[in-house]
Amino acid sequence: MSVISPARALPAEIHLHRMPTHIHTEFDQLMDRADWNADRRELTASALLHAQAAQLIGIQLPASGELARCTCQGCYCTCAFDAAQARTYLDGTIEFVQCPGCADDHPRTGDE
Ligand SMILES: [Zn+2]
Ligand SMILES: [Zn+2]
Repeated sequence: MSVISPARALPAEIHLHRMPTHIHTEFDQLMDRADWNADRRELTASALLHAQAAQLIGIQLPASGELARCTCQGCYCTCAFDAAQARTYLDGTIEFVQCPGCADDHPRTGDE
C-alpha cells in the first residue's frame, strides 16, 4: 500500500524513446550541461540541471539528486533513472551505464 497521493506520485524512471524527440533532445542537453558542470565541480549548477531535467521529463528527482542515462550497448533502452542505481562498466576506455533493468537482464562487462 502506498501512502503517496496519486497526484504527487511521479515515476522514478522513464524511457526516453517514449518522449517527443524535442523533449529527448532538450533532456540530453540538460544532462550534458550537468555533466560538464560536475566535471568542473560546479555541483550546485549541476544539481539544478538534474532537477530541471527530471521536471522536463516528468519523473521524481531521486533522493541522490542525480539522474543517469542508460547507455547500455546490449539494447536500445534509453532509460533515465536514479544515478544511485546505476551500474557502470568499461568498454575500452569508455564508461557505459546500465539501468537496474538492464543490469538484471543482460549485465555487460565490456569484454563481450
Ligand atoms: Zn537500460
Ligand atoms: Zn540494456
